[in-house]
Amino acid sequence: MSFKKFDFNPKIAAGIRACNYETPTPIQEKAIPAILEGRDILGLAQTGTGKTAAFVLPILQRMLKGPRSNRVRTLIVAPTRELAEQINSDITKLARQTGIRSVAVYGGVGKLPQIKKIQSGAEIVVACPGRLLDHLRDKTFKLNKVEHLVLDEADHMFDMGFLPDIKHILNFLPGTQQTLLFSATMPSEIRHLAEDVLDNPVRFQIAHSRPTATVSQQLFSVEQNRKMTLLNGIMAKTDMASTLIFTRTKYRAESLARQLHKAGYTATSLQGNLSQQKRQKALNGFKRGQFKVLVATDIAARGI
Ligand code: AMP
Repeated sequence: MSFKKFDFNPKIAAGIRACNYETPTPIQEKAIPAILEGRDILGLAQTGTGKTAAFVLPILQRMLKGPRSNRVRTLIVAPTRELAEQINSDITKLARQTGIRSVAVYGGVGKLPQIKKIQSGAEIVVACPGRLLDHLRDKTFKLNKVEHLVLDEADHMFDMGFLPDIKHILNFLPGTQQTLLFSATMPSEIRHLAEDVLDNPVRFQIAHSRPTATVSQQLFSVEQNRKMTLLNGIMAKTDMASTLIFTRTKYRAESLARQLHKAGYTATSLQGNLSQQKRQKALNGFKRGQFKVLVATDIAARGI
């Protein structure tokens, strides 16, 4: 099975090759043909399944078929800045040859560079709800020409209290747009939202992905006060090029990174208390190998 059967524009096919994608993932097999047909989608799927390319590729194809404009034609709403950045960077890679540009819009950084990118012709906006509403209230750009709307990780947007913002944002859209909603779980609030915003959607569910066979898992039952000793023991015994540690709270992520730093590891933390600049620095430093250990909260981890 290859991407050829979707008959993508050669400029998009070049993006797929640049990302080294050879065969579509199950979610791509299901979602791409339906999105190309213009159908609304209700997808029960997690991040990590190839979900981003599953919606970005067919949206790009449809955008290339329509007339180019200096307006926002696609809006993607995501719960966290990291996920918005990740989606934006995937779009940049996949769309490089198409000339279609995108911009990530989230709080914690200046508004002006975001406005400039949109005014200079970015047709795709990947946004977190709060900052997007700020822009809409400031009337820095409009959403009345949006052709495609993606609500990504809808259940997390609900968990984070964004549902009223989403409903507000919907008022700025033309109402005729194609809408794609992805969620890992389907609480009743999301089901109601889906009923409101989707028109006769194609529904599918992608089974929870399992770690690949090369990943081994171990579970240790340990008292809270002995966790650090255990972690030190595991880290000392295991030869790890880079280590990602998840904690439940921001405080624990920060203090664990500090303790690991004291113990001689190049460690940093990624959690919601950091400014966007510091989060990006931590993430980039970890990717480049400058930090061998990254301690992250699960919210911050979405999009890694
Ligand atoms: P996502 O669920 O969009 O976060 O994607 C998870 C990871 O899978 C990302 O690193 C993607 O670059 C990668 N990916 C997406 N589609 C494919 C594909 N068809 N083949 C290989 N890797 C893919």
